[in-house]
Amino acid sequence: MKILVINAGSSSLKYQLIDMETEQVLAKGLCERIGIGGHLKHSPLVGGKPVFDEDLPLPTHSEAIAAVIDKLTSPEYGVVSSMAEIDAVGHRVVHGGEKFACSVLINDEVMAALQECTPFAPLHNPANITGINACRAVMGDVPMVAVFDTAFHQTMPGKAYMYAVPYEYYKNDGIRRYGFHGTSHRYVSSRCAELMGRPIEELKLISCHMGNGSSICAIDGGKCVDTSMGFTPLVGLPMGTRCGDLDAGVIQFLMNKYGYSIDEMLNILNKKSGVLGVSGVSSDFRDLDEAAKAGNDRAQLALDMFHYWVAKVTGSYVAAMNGVDAIIFTAGVGENSKASRAAISEYFGYLGVKIDDAANSKRGEDIMISTPDSKVKVFVIPTNEELVIARDTRDIVA
Ligand code: AMP
Repeated sequence: MKILVINAGSSSLKYQLIDMETEQVLAKGLCERIGIGGHLKHSPLVGGKPVFDEDLPLPTHSEAIAAVIDKLTSPEYGVVSSMAEIDAVGHRVVHGGEKFACSVLINDEVMAALQECTPFAPLHNPANITGINACRAVMGDVPMVAVFDTAFHQTMPGKAYMYAVPYEYYKNDGIRRYGFHGTSHRYVSSRCAELMGRPIEELKLISCHMGNGSSICAIDGGKCVDTSMGFTPLVGLPMGTRCGDLDAGVIQFLMNKYGYSIDEMLNILNKKSGVLGVSGVSSDFRDLDEAAKAGNDRAQLALDMFHYWVAKVTGSYVAAMNGVDAIIFTAGVGENSKASRAAISEYFGYLGVKIDDAANSKRGEDIMISTPDSKVKVFVIPTNEELVIARDTRDIVA
């Protein structure tokens, strides 16, 4: 069975074609500048075919999907002989609200329910829906599955997901913590249980997804019991450009003082804050590491804040679960930054965590970076959201 995984943004569309017999990625690629020109980079990963990397007109997502199918099936760049070899499509959808606690087969009813979730993710869900509609138009009745970033977090208890505002806002308007990066937290937590050789039902795990966007998830017995992102992906840890937790009073103060509109204010909090805002250097942790080494105090402060917040939120989840068996680092910073992992782990002495420096220096593989006698184990597990989407799609269409 071959499954096409699609992640549609407002002007971009990422894809992977995965052979589920071997879980090998046959080809992957990215359409960019959809609606404002168009560019496709298509990389076949089997058969020794060349990479296609060129501008081409992509006025809408439909042309983008058609271009992807054309490349996947072309004699020169293709990895399958016709569209009939693509058995199903898995779509990443950012927000499933309270309606979707797991992945679902897409039909008209599901499409209507996705529309109802759009107010919760006004930037992301419309792009995901456009991608699904384009795919249905181009690929006809190939079965399609929606996999939600929020679904894994639907097991949180009310005490974790409620905000302390008048209850009517929850009941009437759905105002609550939803959490994001669920597909990533789900993948690394189940992989961690495999690596530990223990059933996930017995384990208390904390997964730290640290990339451009960052969130932490407490997973007790395989189920999410708390997570740091909230109603939107703006809160929790300070991130590349997002502010993380912030006193709402600051918003009122700055809007009054500088006459910002709410859109201008949210743009500052989403795009100009986080480690970029504090450092004034970059949202990229590689640049921050370099600047801090060269003596830039604000770059060091931004790094210190990030590490402190990861440790602080992780510590709160140890309390929430009354213990922890393993802590997992994943995503761009978690998988690649030895320095950040070491700095964060320094805070975990009270848990009996000991880091093996040689293991912490390795990259690109699932690895335990704590010493064998460390009371709490620490793992680096490269995330693989596409594989989770493909596996869910296979299971549902089968
Ligand atoms: P992601 O959102 O998971 O793709 O992560 C992207 C982020 O990972 C980048 O913005 C960088 O901050 C970070 N990153 C990637 N490689 C490294 C590295 N070698 N050292 C530190 N940070 C890295």
